[in-house]
Amino acid sequence: MIREIYKNIYLNEITLPNSPLKYLNSYIIKDGERPLVIDTGFNRPECRESFLAGLEELSVDIGQTDVLATHLHSDHCGLIHELKEKGARVMMGELESASITALNDPRYWDRMEELARLYDLEKYALKIGDHPGYKFRPGDINDYRTLSDGETLKKGGYNLQVLLVPGHTPGHIALYEAEHGLLFCGDLILEKITPTITFWGFEHDILQVYFNTLDKVRRLPVKLLLTGHRALLKDHTRRIDQLLVHHEKRLAEIKDILQGGEKSVADTAGRMTWDIKAKSWEDFPKAQKWFAAGEAMAHLEHLYRRGQIERRGENGTLLYKASRREE
Ligand SMILES: [Zn+2]
Repeated sequence: MIREIYKNIYLNEITLPNSPLKYLNSYIIKDGERPLVIDTGFNRPECRESFLAGLEELSVDIGQTDVLATHLHSDHCGLIHELKEKGARVMMGELESASITALNDPRYWDRMEELARLYDLEKYALKIGDHPGYKFRPGDINDYRTLSDGETLKKGGYNLQVLLVPGHTPGHIALYEAEHGLLFCGDLILEKITPTITFWGFEHDILQVYFNTLDKVRRLPVKLLLTGHRALLKDHTRRIDQLLVHHEKRLAEIKDILQGGEKSVADTAGRMTWDIKAKSWEDFPKAQKWFAAGEAMAHLEHLYRRGQIERRGENGTLLYKASRREE
């Protein structure tokens, strides 16, 4: 289903089977020369059908189209390889492109197996094949245009400025249109659901990176957020404040959990509250265990770096406990 939400800007809801996200918001900006499509859906037939049906409804020729992926998650970039083969020009953020092309490098997914040990998820016998990011990733892509922070794309009468908005992923980009106050924000800010902030390696305090991005975006004059899922948002500062409160509550909850003794990442995640239709942590679908543990780890590392909790490693698994100073 396609609808025009702003002059020359159309929303195409791409169905996401078996995902609690339900739909991806793909945006089509009509343009006399080359239309721009933002985000694609998973690399699976149901997404491909809704994506192509939307283009057809607007008589957009994929061979004359620019397709931009806001970030490396497979529900946003899953079809880029195939669209490239159909003649589209693919665009990705400068930092994110290396990660997106790495989705086909076995070493990228080997690292996930290491993470399973770090998180103490090995006991649940998770296989990489259970990960939707792996199952529905795009094919190999080697010919694309990278976009740098600050550069401008002219489409459909709009000047769209590329903004690096790291946090949900380290190289996530958004497009800002200053004249009308539009921000195509991918999964940076979502209504109703809180974007996942997960662990991306010890080089980042990714939760702090996300807070810094929210702070930067908060100060932008924005009238309409064109989000990656669910409803479009008018009042971005209200939602940013809610997201900050959510993460502060999460951090407090984790500190509380650690008062009960030393815990691994998975055991911490298993005691946190999650908005998911599962009776208990044991009943969490395998993919959701991955996501929950990654999110718990991002929060644990943030507390650890702020000196609020302690950490040690044992046989490749991390264990966190309340800091003596905090007790
Ligand atoms: Zn995402």
